[in-house]
Amino acid sequence: MRRVSVFGATGSIGENTLDLLARAGDVGVVALTGGRNVARLAELARRHRAEIAVTAHAECGPALRSALAGTGIEAAAGRDALIEAADRPADWVMSAIVGVAGLAPGFRALAQGATLALANKESLVAAGSLLMAEAGRHGATILPVDSEHSAVFQALAGEDMTAVERIIITASGGPFRDWPAERLARATPEEAVRHPNWEMGRRISIDSASMFNKALELIETREFFGVAPETIEVLVHPQSIIHALVGFRDGALMAHLGPADMRHAIGYALNWPERRALPVERLDLARLGALSFEPPDPGRFPALRLAREVMARRGQAGAAFNGAKERALDHFLAGRIGFPAMAGLVEAVLEALAGDAAFGRPPNCLDCVLEMDNRARRLTDDLAARPVFSRA
Ligand code: NDP
Repeated sequence: MRRVSVFGATGSIGENTLDLLARAGDVGVVALTGGRNVARLAELARRHRAEIAVTAHAECGPALRSALAGTGIEAAAGRDALIEAADRPADWVMSAIVGVAGLAPGFRALAQGATLALANKESLVAAGSLLMAEAGRHGATILPVDSEHSAVFQALAGEDMTAVERIIITASGGPFRDWPAERLARATPEEAVRHPNWEMGRRISIDSASMFNKALELIETREFFGVAPETIEVLVHPQSIIHALVGFRDGALMAHLGPADMRHAIGYALNWPERRALPVERLDLARLGALSFEPPDPGRFPALRLAREVMARRGQAGAAFNGAKERALDHFLAGRIGFPAMAGLVEAVLEALAGDAAFGRPPNCLDCVLEMDNRARRLTDDLAARPVFSRA
């Protein structure tokens, strides 16, 4: 029997993963983790007969314990408990916590040699080199779950990396693709969360609207596939049918097409290296009729330019970028700053940290990454209060 754990089980990726696991059979669920949605976590733990359920928040522990009383399922709470859950032997671990909070558990899962299905792109952005080295040290495998990276991974199967000329990841353009700058300035979180094609968690949906999600994915592509930044392109493709393309030196472009359903990429990572039947819609291209493409607009969506600067700087710029982006999003959600100010804030944080010695040095431990992440968050908070960014 295959032993599996799901970190971020109560989220959009977590629930889709559990849906596939329930259909797979011959799976033993080890750990399921969540954040504040304790009732759902307990329900999932019972339904999937998990060995342990963990909430990341110590104050949610009593509610989880009482919801699981008498079931024989262990309950634990707090950050340490979350990380310890990743020490429990498992063959396959889904990393689907949102944000940098997913980094430490994923790191620990690699240390026990598990196959890590990585949805948590923030891990690769903040600590890509450390994560890949940890996998190498323990003979662990990291499989991409982001739809674009799964698509690239599939297009590269059996290919020689030296023949790769370019990698193109697509972006839907999000709900604000056609919005003029004046309207973007007044955009609300409720408008930003309405993604035209994908059902996702609230934070990644807003990151898609600002193109910060694609910015993270640019860096993720560099870290995962080890390619030079200038070989990676972003193409706006509003239908979200082609998820990525790989261009080879003979001029061939291999495209990956599929429905906007994360169960394809999750299922591919679950069944890899085999392909098994998955419960996703089969595309009817004649009904679709046409696919369209356009370049991203760097003026209204500066996040991609910032990601390129981060890739050029290397060092700990990724950790600072992600930390600043996560805090800027918190400020936008709280109504303290407007939608365009998120990119302005992140840029200001990167500029403020640019002269710092640690910023330019590659991280050599997880704590260094988390320290840089923290500094970027504190700086974001300070700058967000300034009149140039603040809505107050
Ligand atoms: P959701 O917001 O739907 O779920 C996030 C999960 O993380 C929930 O289980 C949540 O718990 C948990 N969580 C939140 N904060 C913390 C914390 N501080 N510590 C521990 N756990 C926490 O997110 P998604 O499922 O949409 O995304 C998860 C990851 O996958 C992200 O990194 C995202 O970028 C990536 N991804 C998502 C895609 C999608 O289609 N959704 C596509 C590609 C990548 P609770 O809800 O109980 O508070």
